[in-house]
Amino acid sequence: MKIHHLNCGTIRPRMAGVLNPAMALMPCHCLLLEAGADLVLVDAGIGLADMAEPRRLGPMSLVLNLKQEPEETAVRQVERMGFAPGDVKHILCTHLDLDHAGGLADFPQARVHVMEAEHEACAHPGTAREKKRYRPCHFQHGPDWVTHQELSPEKWFGLDCIRDLPGLPPEIVLIPLPGHTRGHMGVAVKTGDAWLLHCGDAYDLRDEMLEGRRSPLTIRLFQHVAHMDHPGAMDRKEALKAVVRESGGTVTLMATHEPAEYEELSGKRLFG
Ligand SMILES: [Zn+2]
Repeated sequence: MKIHHLNCGTIRPRMAGVLNPAMALMPCHCLLLEAGADLVLVDAGIGLADMAEPRRLGPMSLVLNLKQEPEETAVRQVERMGFAPGDVKHILCTHLDLDHAGGLADFPQARVHVMEAEHEACAHPGTAREKKRYRPCHFQHGPDWVTHQELSPEKWFGLDCIRDLPGLPPEIVLIPLPGHTRGHMGVAVKTGDAWLLHCGDAYDLRDEMLEGRRSPLTIRLFQHVAHMDHPGAMDRKEALKAVVRESGGTVTLMATHEPAEYEELSGKRLFG
């Protein structure tokens, strides 16, 4: 399966660059998969409407300090590659936070796959804190939801997983990674003998995933605020490290906002 690496929105978190230079410019790293004649998007990034009016993102827009560049949206990139937006038949959302779901409205015909728990959290937030993660304007077009819950009997490198997704090839497997949000998940994609695992926001910078390395203080503070279930999210990170250790180099991890991973995997540079 051919994998394209797209940055669907450059965020320049205020103060982050001062506290940790690695966070000065962060992508919204989405994947575009060519699955036969169909296109599959992993995460939708920032959409056209939010690029035009970042205040739609609410108070978080002040923190994110989004680069207003409509050409970075998934839909514009799909068009530049010679495809039609309607060719995107499926979108797999790691979660529905405002920086991952804004692009959904640019592909109103696509089936949108999420964990059942994430759909529930978004539709019925349990707390004020949970409510402010999700922007109702991102879902007003009425996405064609496909929710997932039932785990497959066969694990994926020791992790719970969901295989045999309706309408999708077997090389795409969902990996529930709750913690950042109630129904956060990773998306594993097989190419040849290797796997790429889009980890969403399970981690932020790849240094966090090095054995024996403690996350930088700024990252630790940020994650205490950002994760709905912080201990759970830390457990998931350890489980992901174990996958890398035990896979013998066949699994590559990537996270949505990791700048160096995006530049390496896409062969492109980030510009603010
Ligand atoms: Zn995010």
